[in-house]
Amino acid sequence: MLQMKLCGDLVLREKCAPVERVSDDVLSVMDEMVEIMKEQSGVGLAAPQVGVLKRFLVMMDPDTNKVYKMINPKILSRSSETCTMEEGCLSVLGPDNLPVFSKVVRPSDVEVEWTDENGKKLQAAMSGVMARIVQHETDHLDGILFIDYLSPVHREMVMRKVRKRK
Ligand SMILES: [Zn+2]
Repeated sequence: MLQMKLCGDLVLREKCAPVERVSDDVLSVMDEMVEIMKEQSGVGLAAPQVGVLKRFLVMMDPDTNKVYKMINPKILSRSSETCTMEEGCLSVLGPDNLPVFSKVVRPSDVEVEWTDENGKKLQAAMSGVMARIVQHETDHLDGILFIDYLSPVHREMVMRKVRKRK
């Protein structure tokens, strides 16, 4: 049984190692991550959030409910155009045990490549919410959280709610 890692846990700040082989272990962890993501009404979950320091993640297109399992995902390019969207994270929870949301500025569009659960190499251009999710989740693989992009004032507003949880 995997356990969710929450903000403050140093495991979320580690840089993850590449997956050498799409093993049964990786596949079963990803299946469990999809369950957790759906259970908690999330749209993405990265391996370090369940304490696994490997480069893989799961995410879901909120418009189609299509699930993506990405192994060794890499953002090849980012648009210079940016946009602002509300972001939350299943590792950044407030007093009610629900994600704390805040507005984050990021590139609007990205090009991503990854290996899927069948070992197939894929590439896609993503925009809108999907571009947002894939950037947030790949950041996790490098120990970066969305709160890192906030101004000190907004970051403190989020952290105050996080601290109230305890
Ligand atoms: Zn997150």
